[in-house]
Amino acid sequence: MIVTLQLGADAAQVKRALVARGLWLTALTAPHDPNAVTHFVVAPSSTRVDAQELARIEGVASVSVAASAHPKVDVHGPVVSVAGVSVGGGRPVVMAGPCAVESPSQVEAVAARVAALGAQFLRGGAFKPRTSPYAFQGHGGEALRWMRDAADRHGLRVVTEAMSEAEAPRVAEYADLLQIGSRNMQNFALLKASGRTGRPVLLKRAMSASVEEWLLAAEYLLSHGATGVILCERGIRSFDDATRNLLDLGAVALLSHVHRLPVVVDPSHGTGRRDLVAPLAKAALAVGAAGVMLETHDDPGRALSDGPQALPPEQFAQVMGELGVAPRASAAPVARAEVAS
Ligand code: PEP
Ligand code: MN
Repeated sequence: MIVTLQLGADAAQVKRALVARGLWLTALTAPHDPNAVTHFVVAPSSTRVDAQELARIEGVASVSVAASAHPKVDVHGPVVSVAGVSVGGGRPVVMAGPCAVESPSQVEAVAARVAALGAQFLRGGAFKPRTSPYAFQGHGGEALRWMRDAADRHGLRVVTEAMSEAEAPRVAEYADLLQIGSRNMQNFALLKASGRTGRPVLLKRAMSASVEEWLLAAEYLLSHGATGVILCERGIRSFDDATRNLLDLGAVALLSHVHRLPVVVDPSHGTGRRDLVAPLAKAALAVGAAGVMLETHDDPGRALSDGPQALPPEQFAQVMGELGVAPRASAAPVARAEVAS
């Protein structure tokens, strides 16, 4: 919202009236005089702001609404349905699995384990974005099939990453929720291709992206056909390397409470160490996240990627208990939506 001041108005007094309402402001000044405030730009707020009420503040000439750069995101809402599972519907969702799909037996064991403990989604990379070209790159298309079969046997939804525009349709044949990795948040060709699959998308935040850039990436997906976007906070780069990344829970609160969007938090990549996963997963739900994404491995010491942050079975079970997730009584397979043509 833009609050325009009357000529000669007492800007400090108007500012006090706006701040008293708990609003977050930026002042705009006249080009010829940096001290002459002419407008205040009011950021979106979790409290309802009545433009007509602001227009009645002494010294205010008018109040207008700025055009949004992401109109589809603005009307998206807090819930996305993924093959019958509501993300953001009140009950926290858990997306769990290994960093990478390593073999049919590995993914079968992990699917059985996470389903029994109440996770709704199986995560795991078939195509892995690795910093080094010599590191394990994923088993590709084969791994998509192993993952889909394991998920179907245990009534789980599949979330997995598409790394290229060319791969997106194939990944969408196997995934219920298409994942865009952090390194690809602004790969616009991939965003468009992913949107065109007609699947909902889990959009991970790039490690140096502002919230506005993240929302604009979500707008790309929605404007090209994605049936919903779930934002995933997975930590951003900071000056401090005490943890792998800096998990930005302030942004999670902002997106959940002010923008009213579904956000899933990934404390595994956010911290890089398994001993910090439980406290940050709990914190994520406390600040408004719709769910968490957790890496778990039957034998983390032998994991082909991200072993130090993977929860071994006992610790994963403990975290699920601490999050208050009820174990599942039975895990019957559920029909999936068809891929849009
Ligand atoms: C992942 O979830 O497998 C992954 C590679 O995460 P990120 O894109 O957040 O690094
Ligand atoms: Mn990983």
